[in-house]
Order: sequence, then structure tokens, then C-alpha cells
Amino acid sequence: MLADYHVHTDYSDDSTYPMEDVVTDAIERGLDEVCFTDHVDYGVKRDWDDPLGVEYHAGGPGEPERIAFANVDYPRYVAQIAELQARYEGRIRIKLGLEFGMQVHTIPQYEKLFSSYPFDFIILSIHEVGDKELWTQDFQRGLTQQEYNERYYEAMLELVRTYHDYSVLGHLDLITRYDLAGVYPFKKVRPIIEEILRAVIADGKGIEVNTSSHRYGLSDSTPSEDILRLYHELGGEVITIGSDSHAPEHLGAYLAEAQDQLRSLGYRYTCTFEGMKPTFVRL
Ligand SMILES: [Zn+2]
Ligand SMILES: [Zn+2]
Repeated sequence: MLADYHVHTDYSDDSTYPMEDVVTDAIERGLDEVCFTDHVDYGVKRDWDDPLGVEYHAGGPGEPERIAFANVDYPRYVAQIAELQARYEGRIRIKLGLEFGMQVHTIPQYEKLFSSYPFDFIILSIHEVGDKELWTQDFQRGLTQQEYNERYYEAMLELVRTYHDYSVLGHLDLITRYDLAGVYPFKKVRPIIEEILRAVIADGKGIEVNTSSHRYGLSDSTPSEDILRLYHELGGEVITIGSDSHAPEHLGAYLAEAQDQLRSLGYRYTCTFEGMKPTFVRL
């Protein structure tokens, strides 16, 4: 069974992949299920209906101007997914998800959004800390490698202790993808990662394997094999696999390899979701 549980479309500001093309490509590639998980990043992006518009130049004294991009146009997104579910019924299963790029101070906005639509699945990701993006190095700049690693995982621990309307943690060790100083030793962050994983398990939530590590040329999986091993040892069972696709060539990529990796680590199931409830599918 192949299910891609991390898929972006042109509803995300960093993709131009039309939603229906994703569906037809997924069918062509033999996928059984896709879950759309377009981006919402409160704090750094505006909502589609923001009266100030989606493009603006901000920045205080000494800060560069920047363009604020837009979150998903939720009403159109939810309606189109419902339409595609009906049109392609019997050929592929399609699920309604989002990727919440969350920070503790933006939780109230996500609570409101979550209660507004019948989501199947939510990825909880950290793309920003203190409204500073990881991928641009804004967050890491001026901090030591130890500081940005610790602050990233501390933010994650606080989130999983505070927020509960999600399904899995996205790309748990994303900070390593953007770490210009190289690989930070696992043993230094193991205690806090263990705390995060224990909180996730106690809460009935899970983690994902994000196969974009292949296209980013990372030497390890995302999350690392050390983290996948630790999660399994701690009794973690809820796990999804997603390509984090933003373009046709990413869709469904390396899902089978991730299944092999999980099997080799002793996992027996992966999960799909409906109405926020996991179904365990034998590996
Ligand atoms: Zn992400
Ligand atoms: Zn993503």
C-alpha cells in the first residue's frame, strides 16, 4: 500500500503544482492514497482574506524589507478536495490535511482554523522560531550551533505539551537540513528529543518519515535513523510517510524505500488517517 501523506500544491505559496494534476499523477504512479498538506504559517504569512493583501513590505529599522506570502485559501481548498474525492472515487483515496508551521504564540489562530473544517490529518511542523524562518537562516544567524539546535527542540517540546490538534510531527529534525555548521551530534540533543517523543506517544500522536531527505542530498533520513530507532524503542507506533512534494518529480518519491527502512528498524505498521483517527496498515 502506497500512501503519500505530505503533499503540497499551488495552494502553497512555494508550489505551482495544480491539485488535480497531483491526483492524476498519483494514480498514474500507482499510489493508493494522497493526503494534501498545504502550508499554513501564521506569524510570517498572511491569510488569503487579509484586508492588507498578501504582498507587503515590512521590517523595522535596520531590517530588510520582505514580502509576506499567503496561507492557503481554505474555503477553495476544502471545496476542491471534496470535489476531487467525488470525481476520483474508487481510483484513489484523497484526504484533507494541512501542514501547520506552528509557534507557541500562534496557537490561537490554529485552534480557530482547526475547528472550522473537517480535517483528516494535520502535520505539526516548526518552520520558524520567534517569527524567524529556518530556511533563510534568519533564525540561526547570530546563534551558536548549540543554541539554535537547543532552541529549536525547546520550541518543539513546548508545542507538543501545549497543542493537541495534530496527527504527526513533520520532519522532526528539520534544523539539520539548514545547519551550515554540519551534523550536530545526536547524543547532545537525545535527552530533549526523548522528552518530545514521550510527550507525542503519551498524547496518541505520531511522527512522519519525510522522504525529501533524498532530494536534499542529506546523508541521513528525515528524521534521522537514530530518532526513528529511539521512537520505536519508546513504543512509538503512529507513523506516516510523505514525500513533501512541491512538484511532479517529488510526488510519491522514495515511499517504498522509507517502508523498507521502517521494516528494518522493527516497525510493523504505518498509518493513514481519516477524521484525525489513525488506521494501522501492515508494512
Ligand atoms: Zn515543512
Ligand atoms: Zn511540507
